[in-house]
Amino acid sequence: MRRPLIAGNWKMNLTRDEAVNLARGVGAAAGDGEVDVLVCPTFVHLEGVISAVEGSKVAVGGQDVYFESNGAFTGETSTAMLGDLGCQYVILGHSERRNVIGESDKLINQKLHAALAAGLKPILCVGELLEQREANETMAVVKSQLDGSLENVTAEQMANVVIAYEPVWAIGTGKTASPEQAQEVHADLRSLLATRYNQEVSDGVRILYGGSVKPANAADLMACPDIDGALVGGAALKADSFAEIIAAAG
Ligand code: 13P
Repeated sequence: MRRPLIAGNWKMNLTRDEAVNLARGVGAAAGDGEVDVLVCPTFVHLEGVISAVEGSKVAVGGQDVYFESNGAFTGETSTAMLGDLGCQYVILGHSERRNVIGESDKLINQKLHAALAAGLKPILCVGELLEQREANETMAVVKSQLDGSLENVTAEQMANVVIAYEPVWAIGTGKTASPEQAQEVHADLRSLLATRYNQEVSDGVRILYGGSVKPANAADLMACPDIDGALVGGAALKADSFAEIIAAAG
């Protein structure tokens, strides 16, 4: 069965001290139950956070990475640098990178291949804008993001890929997708994976939901058969609310 994963995307938030304290709090709250727990701080806090969670079961990941291995790429960070620090995961194709920074599926695909080659587990984000949902384009949008981002990724490699469905209209807005809305897209994503790969991949890949997940709605979302965890923004910035979300997935 798929093991739930609760991931905190801290985005561009927190001072170093705040990040280290939050990491300690998450480490203490994570327990040793049946839920994988991950935090993704900004690059500059990675080292402090990795030290702070040492001895706990909390994994640490980057919020992005570049696909080239080294060289003249000012401002970028390589997969080897993340691996060297002790990162196990990396978020790729987050809607803020797609829509604010302007990343394409092609770039995300290059990053995904680089992450897999370096032994990092990518969390590939897909999701539609409000106007796309209102125009009934949700599945076309997530299919094209999935196809573009997973180009030439093999069925074997999919064992290390996590997908996150994050409807853009639900991110940071307080407007969560209802469990029914989320489950519908997750089930469709799973059948896209079955068509693209095979039933084993479809059954094995973890699909997280993200977008205004909080303690009050986590249990209902996690109870859906095709929702295998959450990618949490705002509510991951407080150890107690993140702990409640972890508990809801257990
Ligand atoms: P919020 O939980 O703040 O809506 O953010 C979701 C998100 O973008 C996680 O990656």
